[in-house]
Amino acid sequence: MKEFEFIELLKKHSPPSPAGIGDDAAVAGDLLIAKDLMVEGVHFTPSESIFDVAGRLFASNISDIAAMGGVDGKYRALLGLAIPKGTDKKELAGAVAGAAQKYGVSLIGGDSSASKQGLFLSLTIIGLKNKYLLTRGGAKPGDTVYLSRPVGGAQYELRRRLGILKNHPPADMDRSPERELGELLGRTKGITSCIDISDGLGRDLSHIAESSGVRVTVDKAALPLPELPLSRDELYEYTLSSGEEYALLFTASPRTVVKYDKTLFPIGKVSEGSGCFMDGTDISQKGYEHE
Ligand code: ADP
Ligand code: MG
Repeated sequence: MKEFEFIELLKKHSPPSPAGIGDDAAVAGDLLIAKDLMVEGVHFTPSESIFDVAGRLFASNISDIAAMGGVDGKYRALLGLAIPKGTDKKELAGAVAGAAQKYGVSLIGGDSSASKQGLFLSLTIIGLKNKYLLTRGGAKPGDTVYLSRPVGGAQYELRRRLGILKNHPPADMDRSPERELGELLGRTKGITSCIDISDGLGRDLSHIAESSGVRVTVDKAALPLPELPLSRDELYEYTLSSGEEYALLFTASPRTVVKYDKTLFPIGKVSEGSGCFMDGTDISQKGYEHE
């Protein structure tokens, strides 16, 4: 059974989104709550720097708050750790505390255990709701789809690390969570839906299409391509399927103005129907899904 089928089973015991399962974060009163895991052997290898791993754990959680339009800089978090024998605990604590400080997160609790397998980290983040709550479920026919920046660098870096891409230079691309943009969108009237790219542009756009009950069509010519030493076909493939990017995908109703000082890329349109397409091809499976 795949990850999304499993989540569907859990949904039966959950209040409807956005209070329960189904969005980037859950809503409880004025709070936004999200959780993310990092598992050794699944999300990272022992050879990877623990500072990078902790950074990614915090980034993915902060990014989920940004995707709900949450307020930036008011985060609290609880940390769960299962730690194998032989771990440098001083380094681990330093890595986690450093990542918390970098993103302005107050660590308010958690739990720790020994691990008989690898290292396991889990962060539950608590953020604050903004003026408008952005969910995956509000896109309407006629809306424009925006992407916050070119994507693809995460997949490129992963393939370099795994040795699939040989003799390729490092990618110089921003993959930080879009905290300021998320906060701005949460204060802007007319933003109808939002999601962060954690699985891949195709898959994540299909979550908007499905939750909103609409069709999303990406205009291939409007899609910004990353500056990476790859063929044109590869650039499109990486753009559609690279996960852990933390760029934002959102929809806005016509005449909505986002007063942002960086370029935003209008990449497609929302219409009646279902699914997620580019050039007539279904792109809803482009991206990553856990087994
Ligand atoms: P994201 O990539 O934004 O973190 P996911 O694809 O991981 O979102 O999860 C989709 C939805 O399913 C989210 O609302 C998340 O809270 C929920 N979810 C995922 N795994 C579980 C679980 N084990 N128990 C309850 N809810 C879950
Ligand atoms: Mg998300």
